[in-house]
Amino acid sequence: MAEIIRMCIGCRGRFNQKLLNRFKCEKSKVISYNGFGRSFYICEKCIKDKNIDKKIFRVCKNNKIDVTTLREIVNI
Ligand SMILES: [Zn+2]
Repeated sequence: MAEIIRMCIGCRGRFNQKLLNRFKCEKSKVISYNGFGRSFYICEKCIKDKNIDKKIFRVCKNNKIDVTTLREIVNI
């Protein structure tokens, strides 16, 4: 079975989907992907990087989105 490869929005590196954290933008916050709509991926390294916030603002097309949930979800 072929691996599913997805790109991290932070470093743009390509990883096995299983190694990535998957999220989506919903209204005013970032939530864990729930199976509906568009999602995006962040690798383990980038999720600890403060600069990831800007990348998320761009992906979500919303520079006021609450990204604090991101770190709560992954327990950082
Ligand atoms: Zn990354």
